[in-house]
Amino acid sequence: MFKLQIPILAILLGAASSAQAAPAHKILFFTKSSGFEHDVISWKKGQPSVAERTFLDLGGKHEWTFEFSKDGSKFTPDYLKAFDTVIFYTTGDLTTPGTDKQPPMSPAGKQALFDYVKSGKGFIGLHSASDTFHTANESKKGPDRYANHGKDADPYVCFLGGEFILHGAQQVATNKVINPKFPGFETSGDSFAFNEEWYSLKDFRDDIHVLTVIDSPAMKGAPYQRPAYPTTWARLEGKGRVFYTAMGHRDDIWTNPTFQNILVGAIRWTSGDVKAATPPNLKEAAPQALTNPPYVPQPPPKPPVAPAKPEK
Ligand SMILES: [Zn+2]
Repeated sequence: MFKLQIPILAILLGAASSAQAAPAHKILFFTKSSGFEHDVISWKKGQPSVAERTFLDLGGKHEWTFEFSKDGSKFTPDYLKAFDTVIFYTTGDLTTPGTDKQPPMSPAGKQALFDYVKSGKGFIGLHSASDTFHTANESKKGPDRYANHGKDADPYVCFLGGEFILHGAQQVATNKVINPKFPGFETSGDSFAFNEEWYSLKDFRDDIHVLTVIDSPAMKGAPYQRPAYPTTWARLEGKGRVFYTAMGHRDDIWTNPTFQNILVGAIRWTSGDVKAATPPNLKEAAPQALTNPPYVPQPPPKPPVAPAKPEK
């Protein structure tokens, strides 16, 4: 009897250990804002942000630990090699102190990120990661902001696979799911619709594997007067993997199960736990994606209203 029980016990132990065999990962969540600082990544009274609390929750369900940082000066090859994946929720030129005055990264630190991913690691860009390192510092948002620069785009834009132009009013928009087999999209259905601050994007690289396409013609506002374009994609960078989704502005997106599944899938794919085919598909998925919205000059700021004269 005893001899029989040993193999059974071994099988049970084996089953238990394989159920927990998801690899442990250390992940850097980097949220420096050299431009606009989003509420969901803002540190208030030293407390973790809305986004960080979501990652702590997801990390507890997987074998994931996170480093939360806004310190760009740490970006070196040695620092980055401790992480399996780096996640950006950033804005602006991160080589400048900018809005949040957190330490900037050096140009060598920026290059270290590219080299780190090329060597076989992962990168996830969330929402304003595409509003980061604009080509030729297009911060003035003039007509040049609405042009595609192709190979002349900033190396970061080429690395990410696209660039933010602007956004309109928050609204519910429908995103078509292009590849439901990609990790994180298995249960999202053919499409999903959220109320969100939707980015109008440009300069899509032709090597991206599009995962979602937004139904821009059905949307309200000048930024969306354009054919359907990608809002989520994956691409390979050397031996590494890059993932981007435009979602993540609103607090309630962070508790949305569809968004959380996409985040988990992105972490599993970029960190190499799961394989997925990512053939370039921009021409099939969004054939007119490179048609950008028309440039609409911003109205000049209104003159200050003179204080009303007190009535006699
Ligand atoms: Zn936003």
